[in-house]
Amino acid sequence: MSGIEFYITHTCIKCGACAIDCPVSCIIEGDTQFVIGEDCIRCGDCYSICPVGAVKMRVHQDIKG
Ligand code: SF4
Ligand code: SF4
Repeated sequence: MSGIEFYITHTCIKCGACAIDCPVSCIIEGDTQFVIGEDCIRCGDCYSICPVGAVKMRVHQDIKG
């Protein structure tokens, strides 16, 4: 399985849309931007909904065997 991770960059304008939309409520408001927590189920909703494209996705190359 590929390990996909979503994260929020400094371009976040703290609109809060992602936090409201997240099905597991794992996005919290930080000092300068919103932050994705460990309970993320990688649904991609925040990635799709962010109006400024501040949510990014990266793929881990951690496949073993
Ligand atoms: S990918 Fe889904 S579960 Fe993870 S932070 Fe975004 S909205 Fe929440
Ligand atoms: S939707 Fe985008 S701009 Fe709005 S709080 Fe989330 S990451 Fe920040």
